[in-house]
Amino acid sequence: MLISISSTALSNSVDSKAKLEPVPFIIELDAAKYALRLAYDCSLNVRECGGVIYKKDNLYYVTTPITSNLPFGVDLSAYWDDKNAPSSQYHIIADYHTHICVRENADFANFFSPSDTEVNSGLHINGYILSICDMRIREYNPSQDDKDDIEVDFKSGKKIYLTAGHIVDWVQDRIQPINLPKGHGLDNDPLFLN
Ligand SMILES: [Zn+2]
Repeated sequence: MLISISSTALSNSVDSKAKLEPVPFIIELDAAKYALRLAYDCSLNVRECGGVIYKKDNLYYVTTPITSNLPFGVDLSAYWDDKNAPSSQYHIIADYHTHICVRENADFANFFSPSDTEVNSGLHINGYILSICDMRIREYNPSQDDKDDIEVDFKSGKKIYLTAGHIVDWVQDRIQPINLPKGHGLDNDPLFLN
């Protein structure tokens, strides 16, 4: 399913934070790699950053990354509102975001979270993540990749299933996990992973 888009400009709420990059890509993966490099620079390994990839006339464009200034989770919902789209010619075909690497999520950063795959499956779009823990770029294609294929065991004994997707590329930089500053409100099991 392609999301059809009907208006002429990004709304203020999105426009103030993110713009459509004018650079076109012939290959979707190249667009994703470019976008995640921007998102990596945005993240600074303290906050999640992400955006979407559009297709127009068989070329791919990315939005510059936005952030909710949270370590886990970035709200991309504004993009699913038709009025926020760049034009009726564009169709959102994928989303992308970073997973920062801190001790609290180091075991989970390399997987798609349930909410990640829910969005991708529900909208029938590909998802791309860059895990800052292993600097791999992973794709989850809801029509091809298994969902909830990795069992993750928590110290508490709880188990959840996450989605591995498949590795499509990597980024050279590598950093070590750090501790989140106190007061991030997410000290327990990282089911918040987004
Ligand atoms: Zn995620």
